[in-house]
Amino acid sequence: MRPRNRFEREVAASNVKLSAISPKAVEWAVRNTVKHIAFRTSGHKCTCGDCGHKFDYKGKGRYIRCPQCRHKLEVTDTLARKRKESAYFSTIGRVDGFHVQRVFLLTAVTRKGRKLDTWQTEVCRLWLNTDGKAAVTSRARALGHYMDCFNWFSGIELRNMTNVHWVISDCFVYPHYSTTRELRRNGMRGRLPDCHPTRLAEALLTDCRIETMMKAKDFKAVAHFISHPFDLNRCWQPYKIAKRHRYEPEDYGLWCDTVSLIDKCGKDIHSVKYICPKDLKADHDRWLAKATRMEERRRDMERMVRAKRYEVDYYREKSCFFGIVLSDSDIEISVLDSIEAFRAEGEKMKHCVFECGYYAKSDSVILSAHDLSGKRIETVEFSIKQGKVIQSRGVCNSNTEFHDRIIKLVNDNAYRFLEAKPTS
Ligand SMILES: [Zn+2]
Repeated sequence: MRPRNRFEREVAASNVKLSAISPKAVEWAVRNTVKHIAFRTSGHKCTCGDCGHKFDYKGKGRYIRCPQCRHKLEVTDTLARKRKESAYFSTIGRVDGFHVQRVFLLTAVTRKGRKLDTWQTEVCRLWLNTDGKAAVTSRARALGHYMDCFNWFSGIELRNMTNVHWVISDCFVYPHYSTTRELRRNGMRGRLPDCHPTRLAEALLTDCRIETMMKAKDFKAVAHFISHPFDLNRCWQPYKIAKRHRYEPEDYGLWCDTVSLIDKCGKDIHSVKYICPKDLKADHDRWLAKATRMEERRRDMERMVRAKRYEVDYYREKSCFFGIVLSDSDIEISVLDSIEAFRAEGEKMKHCVFECGYYAKSDSVILSAHDLSGKRIETVEFSIKQGKVIQSRGVCNSNTEFHDRIIKLVNDNAYRFLEAKPTS
């Protein structure tokens, strides 16, 4: 890609000035980013994956130290003789006033009885100027099944920044780094929080809130807010108040969720009483339950408002049936005479007579069958056109012992509905 502006021209010019990675950084990466194993067969015969030394180990520990090279190894019971592993790692440095993160792919091949074989290839470089503007120089992406396929024969050149570059650069960082004066001034010095190093640098240059947290050495918060920038906008004020009261959430993800739930419940997210809970998990669950209840009530009200639009039509079409009451020695059956009655019936009987809008069905009369003390038994749908019951259902759509009796009682009185119906 050709540089399109001055910034990209400068990046392209600095890109050719970088030298090879330092052997110390490679040594660190080999020690820290790939697994080191001892092949174990037949219970105790071990072979060091790093130097090839053979030794006996009868213990139960997961990790041991090779008696020859003194490397810490993970005991692995396997009959395989070869193992290959790759990992991305990066170094951070300064070139011509740019902050640059160089991303390498380290490959390690362990063959039983031989020395560990490793090599690394540089994949891409993320550049940041002092205004926090980013560019990437990278090898060309190869088209293939995997996202991070690169053409190893292409050069590291200026290219379009893609999500793949951001994903692979979120990796281990060699702890000995240097960076620009501006970034050091804004707090990037010493140990780094566990987050994307270039996203962090970008935020340090453009967002003074991250700078404040970084200088307060609140690494847990920085790590969370770098990977969840949306939370920062919502929780910055509560965060400051909580900090002032020396409140330290054990889990920032959970804490930010809790703050947003408190907000949803209409409570003050600047109140210490709410945002500094002793038991965060319990409080989160309590607010979640409350927010869910509120949401249900809101949806319920919306449904009621929608249903009320049919009220006038319902009275016009069905009020002629309202007086009909059918009964025998145990049962009484009457017509549902309002939208509220539909809602109460649906709620108590746990079925969809209200949700599905049966009050709007012009051909149906809906009746409620209850015992003489008023306890609901079944809900009945009577079709005017067919002159008979088309369904009758108990709690949760089950049938009751009165099922057949109810249907018979309504069908035997079908003429009363047909008589009540105004001739049009
Ligand atoms: Zn060894």
